[in-house]
Amino acid sequence: MKYSLLSTFLIIAVVAISGCSHVQENNDILFQTSTINALLNGVYDGDITFQELKQHGGFGLGTVDALDGELIGLDGKFYQVKADGIAYLVNDSMETPFAAVTFFEPDKSALLDEPINNHEQLNGYLDNLLPTKNIFYAIKIEGDFEYVKTRRVPKQNKPYPPLVEVVKNQSTFEFHDVEGTMVGFRCPDYVEGVNVPGYHLHFITKDKKAGGHLLECRMQNVTIEIDYTSDFYMVLPQSDEFYKVDLTEGKEKELVKVER
Ligand code: ZN
Repeated sequence: MKYSLLSTFLIIAVVAISGCSHVQENNDILFQTSTINALLNGVYDGDITFQELKQHGGFGLGTVDALDGELIGLDGKFYQVKADGIAYLVNDSMETPFAAVTFFEPDKSALLDEPINNHEQLNGYLDNLLPTKNIFYAIKIEGDFEYVKTRRVPKQNKPYPPLVEVVKNQSTFEFHDVEGTMVGFRCPDYVEGVNVPGYHLHFITKDKKAGGHLLECRMQNVTIEIDYTSDFYMVLPQSDEFYKVDLTEGKEKELVKVER
Protein backbone atom coordinates (compact mmCIF):
# COMPACT_ATOMS: atom_id res chain seq x y z
CA MET A 1 0.00 0.00 0.00
CA LYS A 2 2.72 2.39 1.09
CA TYR A 3 4.83 1.42 -1.90
CA SER A 4 2.06 1.91 -4.46
CA LEU A 5 1.14 5.29 -2.94
CA LEU A 6 4.77 6.38 -3.23
CA SER A 7 5.03 5.26 -6.84
CA THR A 8 1.81 7.13 -7.65
CA PHE A 9 3.37 10.27 -6.22
CA LEU A 10 6.51 9.64 -8.24
CA ILE A 11 4.54 9.27 -11.48
CA ILE A 12 2.66 12.51 -10.78
CA ALA A 13 5.94 14.28 -10.00
CA VAL A 14 7.59 13.04 -13.21
CA VAL A 15 4.59 14.08 -15.33
CA ALA A 16 4.52 17.50 -13.66
CA ILE A 17 8.24 18.08 -14.22
CA SER A 18 8.23 16.92 -17.84
CA GLY A 19 5.10 18.99 -18.57
CA CYS A 20 6.85 22.01 -17.15
CA SER A 21 10.11 21.52 -18.99
CA HIS A 22 8.26 21.15 -22.28
CA VAL A 23 7.08 24.74 -21.93
CA GLN A 24 10.50 25.98 -20.88
CA GLU A 25 12.23 24.25 -23.77
CA ASN A 26 10.10 25.97 -26.38
CA ASN A 27 12.54 28.53 -27.70
CA ASP A 28 10.65 29.09 -30.94
CA ILE A 29 9.06 32.30 -29.69
CA LEU A 30 9.45 35.65 -31.34
CA PHE A 31 9.36 38.10 -28.44
CA GLN A 32 8.56 41.67 -29.36
CA THR A 33 8.27 44.94 -27.47
CA SER A 34 5.90 47.66 -28.71
CA THR A 35 4.72 47.87 -32.33
CA ILE A 36 6.36 49.10 -35.54
CA ASN A 37 3.61 51.69 -36.02
CA ALA A 38 4.25 53.11 -32.56
CA LEU A 39 7.89 53.52 -33.61
CA LEU A 40 6.84 55.12 -36.91
CA ASN A 41 4.77 57.55 -34.84
CA GLY A 42 7.73 58.60 -32.72
CA VAL A 43 7.30 56.47 -29.60
CA TYR A 44 11.06 56.27 -28.97
CA ASP A 45 11.30 56.15 -25.18
CA GLY A 46 12.74 52.89 -23.90
CA ASP A 47 10.23 50.78 -22.02
CA ILE A 48 12.08 47.58 -21.11
CA THR A 49 15.70 47.03 -20.07
CA PHE A 50 18.12 44.84 -21.96
CA GLN A 51 18.44 42.73 -18.85
CA GLU A 52 14.75 41.87 -19.26
CA LEU A 53 14.93 41.57 -23.05
CA LYS A 54 17.76 39.02 -22.77
CA GLN A 55 15.44 36.69 -20.82
CA HIS A 56 13.56 36.23 -24.11
CA GLY A 57 16.51 35.70 -26.43
CA GLY A 58 19.95 36.81 -27.44
CA PHE A 59 19.31 37.08 -31.16
CA GLY A 60 17.41 39.89 -32.85
CA LEU A 61 17.10 43.51 -33.81
CA GLY A 62 15.44 46.79 -32.96
CA THR A 63 16.60 50.13 -31.65
CA VAL A 64 17.64 51.77 -28.38
CA ASP A 65 16.09 54.46 -26.15
CA ALA A 66 15.62 57.80 -28.03
CA LEU A 67 16.13 55.91 -31.33
CA ASP A 68 19.87 55.96 -30.65
CA GLY A 69 21.03 53.66 -33.45
CA GLU A 70 20.41 50.24 -34.95
CA LEU A 71 20.29 47.26 -32.60
CA ILE A 72 21.81 43.85 -33.30
CA GLY A 73 21.51 40.90 -30.92
CA LEU A 74 23.90 38.05 -31.69
CA ASP A 75 25.07 35.13 -29.51
CA GLY A 76 23.54 36.70 -26.41
CA LYS A 77 25.26 40.06 -26.83
CA PHE A 78 23.56 43.27 -27.96
CA TYR A 79 25.24 45.92 -30.08
CA GLN A 80 24.09 49.44 -30.86
CA VAL A 81 25.36 50.93 -34.12
CA LYS A 82 25.11 54.66 -33.58
CA ALA A 83 24.97 57.36 -36.26
CA ASP A 84 28.79 57.50 -36.21
CA GLY A 85 28.74 53.96 -37.63
CA ILE A 86 30.49 52.43 -34.63
CA ALA A 87 29.00 49.40 -32.87
CA TYR A 88 28.87 49.83 -29.08
CA LEU A 89 28.16 47.02 -26.65
CA VAL A 90 24.79 47.62 -24.96
CA ASN A 91 24.70 47.29 -21.19
CA ASP A 92 21.88 45.62 -19.28
CA SER A 93 20.51 48.79 -17.68
CA MET A 94 19.83 50.47 -21.02
CA GLU A 95 16.30 50.36 -22.44
CA THR A 96 14.66 49.73 -25.80
CA PRO A 97 11.44 51.18 -27.28
CA PHE A 98 11.18 48.49 -29.99
CA ALA A 99 12.94 45.15 -30.32
CA ALA A 100 12.28 41.63 -31.54
CA VAL A 101 14.31 38.72 -30.18
CA THR A 102 14.39 34.94 -30.00
CA PHE A 103 16.69 32.11 -28.95
CA PHE A 104 18.28 31.20 -32.26
CA GLU A 105 18.17 27.46 -32.97
CA PRO A 106 18.32 26.84 -36.72
CA ASP A 107 15.87 24.37 -38.28
CA LYS A 108 17.37 24.74 -41.73
CA SER A 109 20.85 25.54 -43.03
CA ALA A 110 21.94 26.21 -46.58
CA LEU A 111 25.08 27.27 -48.36
CA LEU A 112 24.30 29.97 -50.88
CA ASP A 113 25.24 28.39 -54.19
CA GLU A 114 24.55 31.23 -56.60
CA PRO A 115 25.52 34.90 -56.73
CA ILE A 116 23.01 37.28 -55.14
CA ASN A 117 23.18 40.79 -56.58
CA ASN A 118 20.72 42.73 -54.43
CA HIS A 119 18.40 42.61 -51.42
CA GLU A 120 15.36 41.81 -53.59
CA GLN A 121 17.11 38.75 -55.03
CA LEU A 122 18.14 37.66 -51.54
CA ASN A 123 14.51 37.85 -50.41
CA GLY A 124 13.45 35.63 -53.33
CA TYR A 125 16.21 33.12 -52.61
CA LEU A 126 15.24 32.92 -48.93
CA ASP A 127 11.53 32.61 -49.79
CA ASN A 128 12.33 29.47 -51.79
CA LEU A 129 13.86 27.87 -48.69
CA LEU A 130 10.73 28.31 -46.57
CA PRO A 131 7.92 25.77 -46.11
CA THR A 132 5.27 28.50 -45.67
CA LYS A 133 4.89 32.28 -45.57
CA ASN A 134 2.44 32.07 -42.69
CA ILE A 135 4.82 31.75 -39.74
CA PHE A 136 7.75 33.83 -38.40
CA TYR A 137 11.39 33.05 -39.15
CA ALA A 138 14.62 34.17 -37.53
CA ILE A 139 17.31 34.50 -40.22
CA LYS A 140 21.09 34.45 -39.84
CA ILE A 141 23.42 34.88 -42.80
CA GLU A 142 27.12 34.61 -42.14
CA GLY A 143 30.27 34.87 -44.22
CA ASP A 144 32.23 37.06 -46.56
CA PHE A 145 30.00 39.65 -48.26
CA GLU A 146 31.02 41.30 -51.49
CA TYR A 147 28.95 44.40 -50.73
CA VAL A 148 26.75 45.57 -47.87
CA LYS A 149 25.01 48.94 -47.59
CA THR A 150 23.59 49.92 -44.21
CA ARG A 151 22.03 52.91 -42.54
CA ARG A 152 21.81 54.01 -38.93
CA VAL A 153 19.29 56.33 -37.39
CA PRO A 154 20.56 59.24 -35.26
CA LYS A 155 19.55 59.78 -31.63
CA GLN A 156 16.47 62.00 -31.30
CA ASN A 157 15.46 64.76 -28.91
CA LYS A 158 11.95 65.57 -27.73
CA PRO A 159 9.51 66.39 -29.16
CA TYR A 160 10.27 63.29 -31.23
CA PRO A 161 9.66 63.59 -35.00
CA PRO A 162 8.05 60.66 -36.84
CA LEU A 163 10.48 58.03 -38.16
CA VAL A 164 9.84 58.98 -41.78
CA GLU A 165 11.29 62.45 -41.00
CA VAL A 166 14.26 60.98 -39.12
CA VAL A 167 15.36 58.74 -41.99
CA LYS A 168 15.65 61.76 -44.29
CA ASN A 169 18.82 62.53 -42.30
CA GLN A 170 20.02 58.94 -41.94
CA SER A 171 23.68 58.17 -42.52
CA THR A 172 24.46 55.28 -44.85
CA PHE A 173 27.66 53.31 -45.12
CA GLU A 174 28.93 50.88 -47.73
CA PHE A 175 31.14 47.93 -46.93
CA HIS A 176 33.13 46.07 -49.58
CA ASP A 177 34.50 42.54 -49.09
CA VAL A 178 33.46 42.45 -45.48
CA GLU A 179 33.13 39.51 -43.12
CA GLY A 180 30.12 39.60 -40.87
CA THR A 181 26.61 38.46 -39.98
CA MET A 182 23.15 39.50 -41.05
CA VAL A 183 20.62 39.09 -38.25
CA GLY A 184 16.88 39.44 -38.53
CA PHE A 185 13.43 38.11 -39.21
CA ARG A 186 10.88 37.34 -41.85
CA CYS A 187 7.37 38.17 -40.64
CA PRO A 188 4.11 37.20 -42.37
CA ASP A 189 2.22 39.90 -44.30
CA TYR A 190 -0.59 39.86 -41.72
CA VAL A 191 1.65 41.52 -39.08
CA GLU A 192 1.24 44.87 -40.81
CA GLY A 193 1.19 47.63 -38.20
CA VAL A 194 2.65 45.31 -35.57
CA ASN A 195 6.02 44.40 -37.07
CA VAL A 196 7.67 44.62 -40.51
CA PRO A 197 6.00 42.30 -43.06
CA GLY A 198 8.66 40.39 -45.02
CA TYR A 199 12.40 40.56 -44.36
CA HIS A 200 14.03 42.93 -41.91
CA LEU A 201 17.78 42.41 -41.48
CA HIS A 202 20.55 44.20 -39.63
CA PHE A 203 24.26 43.66 -40.25
CA ILE A 204 27.30 43.54 -37.97
CA THR A 205 30.90 43.04 -39.00
CA LYS A 206 32.83 40.01 -37.74
CA ASP A 207 34.99 42.21 -35.51
CA LYS A 208 31.74 43.68 -34.05
CA LYS A 209 32.89 47.22 -34.75
CA ALA A 210 30.39 48.45 -37.36
CA GLY A 211 27.08 47.66 -39.05
CA GLY A 212 23.52 48.93 -39.31
CA HIS A 213 20.09 48.36 -40.87
CA LEU A 214 20.53 46.48 -44.16
CA LEU A 215 19.60 48.42 -47.30
CA GLU A 216 21.49 46.59 -50.05
CA CYS A 217 23.82 43.65 -50.50
CA ARG A 218 25.76 41.40 -52.85
CA MET A 219 27.05 37.98 -51.87
CA GLN A 220 28.00 34.43 -52.72
CA ASN A 221 29.17 31.43 -50.69
CA VAL A 222 27.66 32.56 -47.41
CA THR A 223 25.88 30.37 -44.88
CA ILE A 224 22.16 30.81 -44.35
CA GLU A 225 20.48 29.56 -41.19
CA ILE A 226 16.73 29.72 -40.59
CA ASP A 227 14.87 29.22 -37.32
CA TYR A 228 11.18 28.38 -37.83
CA THR A 229 9.23 30.35 -35.24
CA SER A 230 5.57 29.59 -34.64
CA ASP A 231 5.00 31.40 -31.36
CA PHE A 232 4.63 35.14 -31.09
CA TYR A 233 4.68 37.09 -27.83
CA MET A 234 4.18 40.84 -27.73
CA VAL A 235 4.61 43.19 -24.79
CA LEU A 236 3.20 46.71 -25.07
CA PRO A 237 4.66 49.77 -23.33
CA GLN A 238 2.81 51.00 -20.25
CA SER A 239 3.72 54.60 -20.94
CA ASP A 240 1.74 57.79 -21.46
CA GLU A 241 3.41 58.19 -24.84
CA PHE A 242 2.17 54.79 -26.04
CA TYR A 243 -1.28 55.19 -24.49
CA LYS A 244 -1.86 58.49 -26.30
CA VAL A 245 -0.38 57.78 -29.75
CA ASP A 246 -2.92 57.32 -32.57
CA LEU A 247 -2.44 53.82 -33.99
CA THR A 248 -5.61 53.70 -36.08
CA GLU A 249 -3.97 54.84 -39.30
CA GLY A 250 -2.22 52.48 -41.76
CA LYS A 251 1.45 53.32 -42.29
CA GLU A 252 2.42 50.99 -45.16
CA LYS A 253 3.84 53.71 -47.41
CA GLU A 254 5.86 55.27 -44.59
CA LEU A 255 7.20 51.85 -43.64
CA VAL A 256 8.50 51.27 -47.17
CA LYS A 257 10.35 54.64 -47.04
CA VAL A 258 11.77 53.84 -43.63
CA GLU A 259 12.91 50.31 -44.37
CA ARG A 260 14.53 50.78 -47.80
ZN1 ZN B 1 16.04 47.97 -39.02
